[in-house]
Amino acid sequence: MTFSENPRDRLQKLNEEVISIQSASYKSNSEPVKVVAVSKTHGPEVIEPLIKAGHTIFGENRVQEANAKWSDLRARYPKIELHLIGALQRNKVTLALKLFDVIETIDRLSLARAVASHINSEKLGTKCFIQVNTGEEPQKSGVAPKDADEFISKCISDLGLPVVGLMCIPPSNEEASLHFALLRQIADRNNLKELSMGMSADYSTAIEFGATHIRVGSGIFGPRSDYNFK
Ligand SMILES: *Cc1c(COP(=O)(O)O)cnc(C)c1O
Repeated sequence: MTFSENPRDRLQKLNEEVISIQSASYKSNSEPVKVVAVSKTHGPEVIEPLIKAGHTIFGENRVQEANAKWSDLRARYPKIELHLIGALQRNKVTLALKLFDVIETIDRLSLARAVASHINSEKLGTKCFIQVNTGEEPQKSGVAPKDADEFISKCISDLGLPVVGLMCIPPSNEEASLHFALLRQIADRNNLKELSMGMSADYSTAIEFGATHIRVGSGIFGPRSDYNFK
């Protein structure tokens, strides 16, 4: 991707590139790949021009930061679809479900239970992805691949969690395609349609491997800022 001066131009280029990669890949007859614009560390003044240019899907990794930045934006732009892509603590579930339309990081049963119970009692339209730790890295969240089938089935059948797909963050020092292929296999055999995989460095590979959502931060916004939202 060529770097032009501002996020709006970069996003437009990215959108065009995504369409061309997808049309050259085997999934060309399916739904367009969704670009989740990862706006963590960037303030509303950077985000709003993208919304005005028509972008609707954004991702944040921290509940508190998202609350500070998005309450007002969401009220003014009701069509926004906000994704939580970072770890969720149980004591923030209520706030997270008020803010986010999609929780991409369901990674343990206690969290799944708390989220399902709140979604179902409040009749929310929230959708969930299960995070799979495809590289089985100790420092990363996510369900181990070998436990994924049982976990997915528990979430859906026992808890009634609205699970639509899987998400992964491959190890930085390994071939990402192996992890994307693994995630897709797990999704296929569990009849899950959505795959959130691919970031700035590897989204084109992810699309070739069937990503339905790519999560791109620095490729749109440039380097992360050190803005503090506390
Ligand atoms: C920050 C982040 C991204 C975006 O990363 P870039 O490399 O800046 O595109 C994607 N997914 C998750 C889970 C992240 O935390």
